[in-house]
Amino acid sequence: MARNVGPQCRLCRREGIKLFLKGVRCDTAKCPIERQGHNNPPGMHGWRRSRGTSYGIRLREKQKVKRYYGVLEKQFRIYFARASKQKQNTGAALLSFLERRLDNAVFRSGFTVSRRASRQLVNHGHIYVNDHKVDVASYLVKPGDFITVKDSEKSLKQVREQVDANKGRQLPGWLSLDEKTPKVTILAMPTRDDVQIPVEEHLIVELCSM
Ligand code: SF4
Repeated sequence: MARNVGPQCRLCRREGIKLFLKGVRCDTAKCPIERQGHNNPPGMHGWRRSRGTSYGIRLREKQKVKRYYGVLEKQFRIYFARASKQKQNTGAALLSFLERRLDNAVFRSGFTVSRRASRQLVNHGHIYVNDHKVDVASYLVKPGDFITVKDSEKSLKQVREQVDANKGRQLPGWLSLDEKTPKVTILAMPTRDDVQIPVEEHLIVELCSM
C-alpha cells in the first residue's frame, strides 16, 4: 500500500505541532518542534508562517489528521464517505474509523514506538486478530476482537520489550492489555475523547463536504 516515505519531522514542522511520527526521538530534545529556531515550516520561506485563508485552515486540519494516522488522500476520502453515512456526528465518526485501524490499535496498546513501526509489524505478518493473521494495517478492529502476536520468538521478543518499556503508560479506555501474553482486547468503539491529537474535526467535515 502507498505510504508517505519522506522526512517525518518535516510533516510536523508544516503542521506546527508534534505528530509523534518518529517514536523515541519525539520525546527527546532532538525534536525540532521543541528546539528554538527549528520549529518553523519547511521550505525557503518557512520562517514566515502565514495566517492562512479559510480554505487553507481547513486543509491544514485535514492534512494534520492524515499525517498523524499515516493515511493518504484516497483512503481518507473512503473513511469520510463511510463516516458521512453514520448516524453520529460525521467528524467524530471519521476519527473513530481512524482510531480503529489495526496499526493504530497496535500502537495505542504499546506494542511499538510509533504508528509507522506498527504498520510494519502488521504488514510483516506478526499480528493476529482473533487468532487469524491479519497483515492489512487498515483493518478495522471492533468490540470483542482480540489482538495477539505471532507465536515466534522473534515476534514476541520485540513486542514484549516494547510493552515492558511502556509499563505504566495509560491505555485508552477502549483497549485492555494483558501484558504477559501479550494480548489486547477491544472493549468498545473509540470515541472522540480517545483521540489524542488536538483537531477541529468540523473544519475537516466542512472541507470534505465542499
Ligand atoms: Fe520529528 Fe517526532 Fe518531533 Fe515530529 S514529534 S518533529 S516526528 S521528533
